[in-house]
Amino acid sequence: MTASAPTRATIVGAGGLGGPIALSLGAAGIELTIVDHDVVDATNLHRQIQFTAEHVGMPKATVLADAVVARGGRARGVVARWVPEDTDAHTQDADLIVDGSDNPATKFAVSDWAVANGRRCVIASALRYGGNVMGGAPGYACYRCLFEEPGEAPSCAQAGVLGPVVGAIGGVAAAIALGIAHDDRTYAGALLVFDDLRTLAEPRIVRFAARPGCAACTHAPISPYADGVRIAEGG
Ligand SMILES: [Zn+2]
Repeated sequence: MTASAPTRATIVGAGGLGGPIALSLGAAGIELTIVDHDVVDATNLHRQIQFTAEHVGMPKATVLADAVVARGGRARGVVARWVPEDTDAHTQDADLIVDGSDNPATKFAVSDWAVANGRRCVIASALRYGGNVMGGAPGYACYRCLFEEPGEAPSCAQAGVLGPVVGAIGGVAAAIALGIAHDDRTYAGALLVFDDLRTLAEPRIVRFAARPGCAACTHAPISPYADGVRIAEGG
């Protein structure tokens, strides 16, 4: 890890996506804050493999943080719904924020916060048999550039998601997050789309420029428009 690499990340959501994301980033030495308001539910255990039956009824954030610590990592759980108004208490010191929530409005709030505060971010969504992962960094297009409003983003109805798909998308999100944490910008300003993991098809990689008039990017401290319309590099 280079001296400039971030050592702190906030994980939003401790469920099927947040589990593999937190365990992977924690094992890589990144200090984690895991934010989730919910408790472990017996009907979700098939897609939240970081939990066991004895955790049912306990706060997801705390149990997942304990699992990271048990593997030698550093993590703390915050039992609350992540909202930007509370970030001073738990997210302000994060170099990177990773969304694995099942709430489209939260994904936009996480992306907007990252843009406004000049942080890196990864937004992950699982949808039935596939999903998508977006990488974000200061100076690149953001989640809102692509989807504009929560109604246009794919709904993340976890109830309809195949268990192994959530783990796979969470693993991809962790890999992208580790790259971005170590200043790899290959997937900054890009969306990886997995249409149906059962087919084992390669993801579609959608690279896009910052959208003129994007409500988040227009006020970004590091503008994605600075050198004209910038597009993602690499890949
Ligand atoms: Zn934007």
